[in-house]
Amino acid sequence: MPDSKPTSALPPPLALLRDTPAGAIYALAAKNELLEGVEACQHRAVAGAEWRDDRRVLTLELAAGPQVSFSATGPQLQIECSCRKWSPGRHCSHVVTGWALLKRVVSPESLAASRFSDRLLRDVEILVGLREGEVPSAPKKPSLADRLAEARRIRAVKLAARAKAAKPAKVTATKPDKSDIRLVLEIGWP
Ligand SMILES: [Zn+2]
Repeated sequence: MPDSKPTSALPPPLALLRDTPAGAIYALAAKNELLEGVEACQHRAVAGAEWRDDRRVLTLELAAGPQVSFSATGPQLQIECSCRKWSPGRHCSHVVTGWALLKRVVSPESLAASRFSDRLLRDVEILVGLREGEVPSAPKKPSLADRLAEARRIRAVKLAARAKAAKPAKVTATKPDKSDIRLVLEIGWP
């Protein structure tokens, strides 16, 4: 990890984030969202980043779909997520993930107790324009067909595992019951 980036070189949202103490993350969201969001920094991919408004607004697109925006149009950083769980008074785990990733990128010495995927941090650095060079390794958002294929693959693996686990068991369980079942219709004569 390179040394901290000079504040002057950073676009406003990142400069604000750099000047925010890392401990502010604990006030971002409720405990569950916090844990989930930080945990995602180990594996969740970022699919893209977009600057708008003269680099006052940064939108990170998580590979899972939600888009997290960091706006520095006022003195304070405003953060929003596109997911359904987010509301102005209640940040979601995606906000925590985006916040933690960007904070770590602009202040590499921060959040030392949390684990980050180095590749993910590098991707974020490239996506937001703080690192030159290689095309980010973040996977593209999968198409519906890709997701269906993946779901089928996972199901096939699960079924295979289940079949394997079931093999030592006796086959009698699957045999049809031999007892007769008769349906009797009785017509009552007067
Ligand atoms: Zn969200």
